[in-house]
Amino acid sequence: MKFCSECGQPVEFRVPEGDHFSRHVCSACATVHYRNPKVIVGCIPEWDDGRILMCRRNIEPRLGWWTFPAGFMELGETSGEGAARETLEEARAEVTIGKLFVVINAPSIGQVYLVHRARMLHPGHGPTPESSETRLMTEAEIPWTEIAFPTVYHSLRYYFEDRRGNTEGFHMLNLPHRTTLSPD
Ligand code: ZN
Repeated sequence: MKFCSECGQPVEFRVPEGDHFSRHVCSACATVHYRNPKVIVGCIPEWDDGRILMCRRNIEPRLGWWTFPAGFMELGETSGEGAARETLEEARAEVTIGKLFVVINAPSIGQVYLVHRARMLHPGHGPTPESSETRLMTEAEIPWTEIAFPTVYHSLRYYFEDRRGNTEGFHMLNLPHRTTLSPD
């Protein structure tokens, strides 16, 4: 950030009085522009036969790689509502959202991942502008070497481990920190 969104004057990157972190502070109107982590919500939609719904990404980053439906949470929705919305947007599939079962902190990129269990209401699904292909997969069909992000990989591992153990666990994972955070 270079200019204040309130008054248009240049901002400085410094620690405001009484604070502990550097912030973008307006040099003219003194507005402090806070930046906080983004929340990504997703779900693993399962159909009655035990297969789960995967999407091949049609957008960067990781174009052509596989994920389950997930995306940035919007203002005004719950994590479950966001995950259901992403499933409709990315795979044209309708789900009932179940328990939250994965929380992954990714402090190096300022993101938190919330992943729910989900049941498909019917087996319908299909490609969208965000997914070039959607497919119901057994565990053996998961393309482990073509998974788009570590968060997706770990969540899928937890999901199938739980299922083999006939449990519904809850999993928290903290990915490594980066030593410095860029002010941009
Ligand atoms: Zn200002």
